[in-house]
Amino acid sequence: MAVAIVGAGFSGAVVARELAEAGVNVEVFETRDHIGGNCFTERHECGTIVHVYGPHIFHTADQRVFDYISQFGEFVPFEHRVHATAGGRVYSLPINLLTVNQVFGTTFTPSEAEAFLASQSVPKGERTDLEAHGRSMLGDVLYELFFDGYTTKQWGSAPSELPASVLQRLPVRFNYDSSYFSHPIQAMPRLGYTPIFEQLLDHPRIDLHLNTAIDAAGLAGFDHAFWSGPVDAYFGYSLGRLRYRTLDFEEEVHDGDYQGCSVMNQTDLDVPFTRVTEFNYFTPWEHHDRTVIYREFSRDCGENDIPYYPLRLNEDGELLGRYLEAADQEPGVTFLGRLGTYRYLDMDVCIGEALDVAAEFLKKV
Ligand SMILES: Cc1cc2nc3c(=O)[nH]c(=O)nc-3n(C[C@H](O)[C@H](O)[C@H](O)COP(=O)(O)OP(=O)(O)OC[C@H]3O[C@@H](n4cnc5c(N)ncnc54)[C@H](O)[C@@H]3O)c2cc1C
Repeated sequence: MAVAIVGAGFSGAVVARELAEAGVNVEVFETRDHIGGNCFTERHECGTIVHVYGPHIFHTADQRVFDYISQFGEFVPFEHRVHATAGGRVYSLPINLLTVNQVFGTTFTPSEAEAFLASQSVPKGERTDLEAHGRSMLGDVLYELFFDGYTTKQWGSAPSELPASVLQRLPVRFNYDSSYFSHPIQAMPRLGYTPIFEQLLDHPRIDLHLNTAIDAAGLAGFDHAFWSGPVDAYFGYSLGRLRYRTLDFEEEVHDGDYQGCSVMNQTDLDVPFTRVTEFNYFTPWEHHDRTVIYREFSRDCGENDIPYYPLRLNEDGELLGRYLEAADQEPGVTFLGRLGTYRYLDMDVCIGEALDVAAEFLKKV
């Protein structure tokens, strides 16, 4: 049986490994000149491990996924903390008791802070948009300081035109816990993500073709294909293009320590970038004399750009529905991953779904 796998990110690489382990020969096709998809990391000439497509922190509540991926490389416990520069001052994020006390110059206890934020709430009435939700959840001051400008830069739309779901994911804590993620497992691969992909794809039944973009016609000779590229690309964009945001990164190298933390969000609208990542902070067990930073800029994704964040506004949802219907009727092709299903997916979810998809497939062959 001949099986093709399109894409060598976590979705494609995990399916490839699972099928290979079960005795199926697979061919993996990858447009880029490297494996790892958007999780690709490489050592910069100054020694730092750089996350080339933006910072990636592994976090999960799924022990099965963590045990699985840990077979392919060592993960070191890592608690991600983010700061924000807003209005010329630095604050702790996600919003926690320290942030509230910093912003309002108070010494609130947890219950005092909770009561205070409740008193700041702006009723949202019938509105379901992000701005109304943010003002109702946080009051005007915190909402405007941390979310109004940042969201506008990140999504290229006024928050009043975005669904509240974009903001609902962000926690507000009434204690001094400033850990960015709430998951019980949070870790970084000791040597970066790329060596994990090298291990995943290192199997005699896996044949890897880099620099090879494949389309639906190219899959004709295979008994089955797993497609982790964009779902609309598979259909030649025949129904139109699903919209994404793309990112541009501006790299700089400095001596010593640049900003004192891994990620500094820039929430003011007049600062054109959304955040600055300093990669040395992702490997506190290494020491480098120089430091690499990326400034991150967000904009609409053009035809030749790398798609990063699915927009998923109402009109995208309708178009997606039509593509998913077409995908359902496509015999011999399984669509998966963040591009194949047009969803924002964390790495652990991608890995978990790829394991499930591979297991389902193996039951039938
Ligand atoms: C800026 C940013 C930060 C993130 N940070 C985190 C984080 O901190 N923690 C976390 O858990 N998740 C994070 N994620 C999510 C993470 O990137 C995804 O979970 C993961 O990359 C999805 O893997 P995938 O294999 O589905 O897709 P991808 O990694 O995008 O892989 C798909 C691959 O398919 C290839 N391809 C596409 N079309 C074709 C074709 N026609 N022929 C051949 N190859 C093709 C592409 O080149 C790509 O390499 C982040 C995402 C972004 C955008």
